[in-house]
Amino acid sequence: MLLTPARLADGRLVDVVIDGGVITDVRAAEARSAVRPSDGAMPVPVALDLAGMMLLPAPAEPHAHLDKALVANRVSNPAEDLAGAIDAIIQAYATMTDDDLTTRSLNAIATAVARGFTAIRTHLDCRVGIGSRSVRRLAEIKHEVRDLVDIQIVALAGHVTDPDGADNRLLLLESLAAGADLVGGTPSLEPRPTAAVAELVAIAADHGVGMDLHVDETIDSTATALRTLAERVTATGFPYPVTASHCVSLGMQDPDEQRRTAEAVAAAGISVVTLPQTNLYLQAREWECAKPRGLTAIGALRAAGVTVAGGSDNWRDPFNPMGRIDPMETASLLVTAGHLLVSDAYDAVSAGSRAVLGLPEVRVAPGYPADLLAIRGVSLADAIADASEQRIVIRAGRVVADTRVTRDVDPRDHVALRRATASVR
Ligand SMILES: [Zn+2]
Repeated sequence: MLLTPARLADGRLVDVVIDGGVITDVRAAEARSAVRPSDGAMPVPVALDLAGMMLLPAPAEPHAHLDKALVANRVSNPAEDLAGAIDAIIQAYATMTDDDLTTRSLNAIATAVARGFTAIRTHLDCRVGIGSRSVRRLAEIKHEVRDLVDIQIVALAGHVTDPDGADNRLLLLESLAAGADLVGGTPSLEPRPTAAVAELVAIAADHGVGMDLHVDETIDSTATALRTLAERVTATGFPYPVTASHCVSLGMQDPDEQRRTAEAVAAAGISVVTLPQTNLYLQAREWECAKPRGLTAIGALRAAGVTVAGGSDNWRDPFNPMGRIDPMETASLLVTAGHLLVSDAYDAVSAGSRAVLGLPEVRVAPGYPADLLAIRGVSLADAIADASEQRIVIRAGRVVADTRVTRDVDPRDHVALRRATASVR
């Protein structure tokens, strides 16, 4: 497959050749017209016209909740805070059928793939009152869509200490047996966070799997589960990948405290996933002025050498009714709310996310996997800001989604407007 002419994030206009799921050649676009087919220098089995589009390493979603996705139309969260969202989703679970779970999950996956995600890590509730049904169903769906997208399942346990600790631990074990890839949990919501962290680390170690915890979702600066997790991982020599999601409290702490915790997180080899959409929605509801943004301390973590990825969290459910299922929205929020440079923001939703998921690095260069996103735009900033639906998604060298957009603005007699309309087609 030939992609031409492809505009890269560094501004170069190139032709890209893909063969066997791998990028095999990247050369200046001008060079192609100078090569006659008879030269045999560049055989062209299939050419994909990328005029007017950027070609980027494909995004990966490091933190979604497919079991809850697209349920917002029928479940409300009048309190609009985290506790209200948890209450609402427990009520919603009581009405969910397997068909409903399947339909919503697949709709969300299809949208995610069309928007550029070639891999998704989803947390799935398994707890008293809900059971492990979501893990069992999504394990089947993961297999069914394996040619379209990589899915990783985190078993999101209920409280593993008291009061239902024993039952929730059993459901976590049941979920791991049913196909969950990682151990998840919410230690800061438990009565004994330190004990919960120790319990979750022990269960993951016993089963030889990694962890991805909702470490804390609170603007209470005294919440220290992230530090506890880092110290526990280091002390036990836990050998599998660990991801700390949200870590909102760290963003509220003073710079020295942030630095010390970030260094402990780096030393433990823990990656952090920041989730601006949901944190901006749920956090600081009680503040009447100068509301904190509820994001983790991205700068301190990056300065300490921690891998920081950007994710969506909730795709239209009581935790976030506005989740757009779009890496470009997350990247945009990392620029405006997270104060990252445009290139670093895109790295967070692509390279950083792939690193969290343990996937091989992608660059638009020979020898790298052909997991790519082409999106309408003339620069990376333009592509993120405009977030055009016009996207072509390539996974393992195969086009898995192709969305075309036409725009008609009535130009009447305005010559300049007529030109502008033509230029976006
Ligand atoms: Zn989450």
